[in-house]
Amino acid sequence: MVTKQHSAQLERFKKTLESEHQLLIADLAMALNTIDTDNSRNVLATIKSLSCDDLVELLADEECPEVNRTLKRLRAVDASLCQTELGLYGFCADCEKPIELEMLQRDATVQRCYACDQIHRHVLKNNKRILL
Ligand SMILES: [Zn+2]
Repeated sequence: MVTKQHSAQLERFKKTLESEHQLLIADLAMALNTIDTDNSRNVLATIKSLSCDDLVELLADEECPEVNRTLKRLRAVDASLCQTELGLYGFCADCEKPIELEMLQRDATVQRCYACDQIHRHVLKNNKRILL
């Protein structure tokens, strides 16, 4: 991620992530509106000023699937945004090689390159540990 082309790509992914982040906050606000508990109302009132971690903590006890799904995605998006700040974005969590562009274009929050992703899926599917 040092060339000009790469930094332009990085900016694009960052924008994609930022707009998804905003959409997710809007989704979350909508889901919270439907729960309508004291907690959800409190969170809703301050949602714009809360960090992703705050939201996860405050909503840990909510059992609404929509909220949980949105939070899970929000965490992934938030983590990827942090990585763009730290210069770690786009590198595989397992082998540390650059993640294929096509993988990132399909989902800007992917954490593994194609090869490692295949292994990971295989491991999950078989629920076994593969020692590399
Ligand atoms: Zn990898």
